[in-house]
Amino acid sequence: ESVSVMTTVYDRLGVSTVINAVGPSTRLSGGVMRLEVAEAMVQASQYCVDMAFLQARASEIISKYTGSEAGYVTSGAAAALLLGTAACVTGMDPLKMNRLPDTSGMKNEVIMARSHRNFYDHAVRSVGIKLVEIGIADRFSGAGVRDVESWEYGAAITERTAAVVYVAYPHTLPRLEDVCTVAHAHGIPVLVDAAGQLPPESNLQRFITEGADLVSFSGGKAIGGPQSSGFLCGSRDLIASAALQHLDLDILPELWNPPADLIDRSRLPGAPQHGIGRPCKVGKEEIVGLLTALRLFVEEDVIKRYQRWLELMLELKRSCGELPHAQIDLISDRKRSGIPIVRLELDEDQSGITAIELIKSLQDGNPAIAANPISVDEGIVIFGPTCLKNGEPTIIGNRLKELLNI
Ligand SMILES: *Cc1c(COP(=O)(O)O)cnc(C)c1O
Repeated sequence: ESVSVMTTVYDRLGVSTVINAVGPSTRLSGGVMRLEVAEAMVQASQYCVDMAFLQARASEIISKYTGSEAGYVTSGAAAALLLGTAACVTGMDPLKMNRLPDTSGMKNEVIMARSHRNFYDHAVRSVGIKLVEIGIADRFSGAGVRDVESWEYGAAITERTAAVVYVAYPHTLPRLEDVCTVAHAHGIPVLVDAAGQLPPESNLQRFITEGADLVSFSGGKAIGGPQSSGFLCGSRDLIASAALQHLDLDILPELWNPPADLIDRSRLPGAPQHGIGRPCKVGKEEIVGLLTALRLFVEEDVIKRYQRWLELMLELKRSCGELPHAQIDLISDRKRSGIPIVRLELDEDQSGITAIELIKSLQDGNPAIAANPISVDEGIVIFGPTCLKNGEPTIIGNRLKELLNI
């Protein structure tokens, strides 16, 4: 797909498109879906289906890819965290489901390491739970080498504990396996936020293998699915509870006939009504789009995908040529993140422009170019390939030449 893909709809709206060298960030509208995914969504939009049956089929497909018992498509990883937390609090009790976010009298404490806290945990807190923080993040403050340890999870568990939430990054400590061992010894489920941990594909199975009871993934990040999609995978009972708190249940009980492989109705005294997940509903288009993207993501040859990204980064490095007072490196990073990047390091004393000013100028130009500011404090600007089209790296290179005065 090249730069010439229609921008008509944005032209008509008078909204400028952005050359996105950051990656699939929500603020920048996510990534660029493959046409095969977009076409599947168009087809899905032309028919009506029973959403519970569509989700039951999604469950089967997600289980196949993740090795979990069940799965469920959500409107993003954050929505999956909300639904997963709700499932851990209520179990299969429809009265509790109806009462959320009032959790009085329920198991309503969720344990999280202080160093794992982040603002996506709004989704966890919005269920009405009390967050119990453990550990002191010496490792991150630079004051020491230690962080929370797995035994501290055990020490924080009480009869009110509903779940442990664990945020998975390549550098996350303590090890998930150890946290699961401790939590499971007390009968407490572990919910893993793995929103952006793909690639590598092996992570689709990894957290389940390490003992997680529920894992949330984004569909709009590297998988290349719709921006407002994600999924949950994990134990059959927790997924059933999540489904019950998410599906639209505005239906007469006599007519309610959910698919047995997703929801075992015989275990319920009655059906809950609309649940806490109803505000984050997911459309059939997103479900079909996510499943299509997931299939393409798993089927795509890893080396080929890497080569495609590498070509884009080579194009960028080539088109920059030699820039004064700047060192341009291609970091292959195939082992760690699986994504090659271009790293531009400015000699800020000589270049007359700082890294943050350079990013601002790229952003303010026409077309707007978004670059990653994560290392600006070291005078470094980072460019990533995952949302770039052929031809765009050359536009970036030419702009950099202009801004750095050649
Ligand atoms: C991106 C992200 C989320 C949110 O994912 P969405 O699919 O946008 O809802 C949650 N947690 C972490 C750690 C993330 O990086």
